[in-house]
Amino acid sequence: CGIIGIVGTSPVADRLVDGLKRMEYRGYDSSGICTIQDGKLTRRRAEGKLANLVAVLADQPAGGNVGIAHTRWATHGAPTSINAHPHATDRVAIVHNGIIENFKELRDELKADGRQFESETDSEVVAHLISRRIEAGDTPEEAMRDVLPRLQGAFGLAIAFRDYPDLLVGARLGSPLVVGYGEGEMYLGSDALALAPLTQQIAYLEEGDWVVVTRDGAQVYDAEHNPVTRAKQHSGASA
Ligand code: GLU
Repeated sequence: CGIIGIVGTSPVADRLVDGLKRMEYRGYDSSGICTIQDGKLTRRRAEGKLANLVAVLADQPAGGNVGIAHTRWATHGAPTSINAHPHATDRVAIVHNGIIENFKELRDELKADGRQFESETDSEVVAHLISRRIEAGDTPEEAMRDVLPRLQGAFGLAIAFRDYPDLLVGARLGSPLVVGYGEGEMYLGSDALALAPLTQQIAYLEEGDWVVVTRDGAQVYDAEHNPVTRAKQHSGASA
């Protein structure tokens, strides 16, 4: 339902949760975050209110300057902490808005390939598809070129990679996604409002776009994987 990602220069967990709070108005049933901490993906999730996630984080903090977060409005799988996003392997964590319509055939294929699923969501296939390419030696860009054409349905995605701790990848088709430009930091959000306290300099991705975000900026690709630029604008959203 709501997505936020930060490639930051200081710890991101609190700021990710603040971004989720700004998207509470959209409704949600569970939430979660994943940061890259000491070379590992650190994931914290909770069902119910954001206060429950805040309590989990108070007990088990998630350090790190790069991370992604999600508020979920369940479409496939009950609103439990196991089904809450991010979904992840050792190497790749994803948050997803929307519905992957062909998830059953993708899941069957991945299971036949020996991959184990943790959740009942449609979204988890995306984590496995991308992780499988990374494990095979692809870069994140190569993995996206391979996996995105296989996804049918609607998605806004933010993706973190254990082995590429200085970038996030975003993608959108049928769900909005915004790139935010900060001072030495970069952001992804499903909503300009979520990013407003961080930056008001944003660029809207177009249908089928995907983006690699680092501290230095963003490289957007269109649906045919050609590098493109999307105009930077002032969001007008108030912090
Ligand atoms: N279809 C996904 C799920 O049920 C994402 C739902 C959402 O947009 O929050 O987990």
